[in-house]
Order: sequence, then structure tokens, then C-alpha cells
Amino acid sequence: MIEAIAAAWLLLFAGDLLSTFCYHVPEHVFGSLHIRTHHSPNKNFRHYAVLSSNSFVLVDGVLGVLPYLLVSVILWPLSPVGVGVGLALGQFHVWWRHTTALNWRTPQLVTFLCGLLFVTTPERHWLHHKNTSLAYGDIFTFFERPAEAWMRILRLVRYRYKITTSVRAAQNTP
Ligand SMILES: [Zn+2]
Ligand SMILES: [Zn+2]
Repeated sequence: MIEAIAAAWLLLFAGDLLSTFCYHVPEHVFGSLHIRTHHSPNKNFRHYAVLSSNSFVLVDGVLGVLPYLLVSVILWPLSPVGVGVGLALGQFHVWWRHTTALNWRTPQLVTFLCGLLFVTTPERHWLHHKNTSLAYGDIFTFFERPAEAWMRILRLVRYRYKITTSVRAAQNTP
């Protein structure tokens, strides 16, 4: 029982950590797929909750979930049941955090409990949909500050890279 709970929590923690720092934040800084699909305005619940057959939505969803699957393989020997529960909870959270698109409002008690457990509510996740610099951590809120710092570093890298390429371009210009 303890192993199952530990495996489920570790799966969600490590999956969100890897997904946020290896895909979500870098994709916002260097990419365009996630912004074009997941942050496109006025889409319906099925679109945001990756219940759409749109190929771009599916690719973005698969890339986001890939870290969870990698962590599943590592945690499988600890508890297959825990891995199954963790994946199910992760999938449930994807659907739940997009219910704002259905005009649902999270009950105050649930918001309070999520605050105690550092779990992202639909309202908090919607802040990220409206402002891509805010509210990182798809499942856990404690990834927000480190994600913002990671974003600043990656933006600096992007800025430096552009300077380098423009200097090189200028040097190569006769
Ligand atoms: Zn979202
Ligand atoms: Zn995003």
C-alpha cells in the first residue's frame, strides 16, 4: 500500500518536473507548437483537454505526457498498481484543469485542499492560458518559481544565441 502511494506520488511529481522543465518551458521559449495549439484562444474543452483528433493537439499532448511514461517505466518495479493510479490521476488532472473552458468553478473546499497539497486548480491553470509567463506546474504549484527562473535563463540563452548569429552574419557579410 505504502509502495503504491509512493509510486503514484513520485510519478506525478517527477512527471510534472520533467514535463515542465524539459518540454513546457523550453517549448514556450524556443518553440511554437504548444503556443499555437494549447494557447490558441476560444477553443473548446475537448481541444484543451487533448480529447481532440487534431494532429497538432495530439502531438503536443504526447510530448507533454512522454516524461510521465518514462518515469512509469522506472517506477514499475516499485508498484505497478501505483504507476497505474498515478497515470490515471495525471490523466484525470489534465481533464479537470481545463474545465474552466466549460465555465465550471472549483468549489471553495476543493480550492482550499488543493492549496494545502500544492495542487494546481483549473482557475490557476487558466492564468497560464491567459498569460504564458505565469502559473507553471501543470499539477503542482511549487514548480512555479523554479520554472520562472528556468524561463529567464532560457530566454537569456535565446537572446545570446540571436546576438551570436547576428554577429556571425555581420562577420560573414562582405
Ligand atoms: Zn492547459
Ligand atoms: Zn503553456
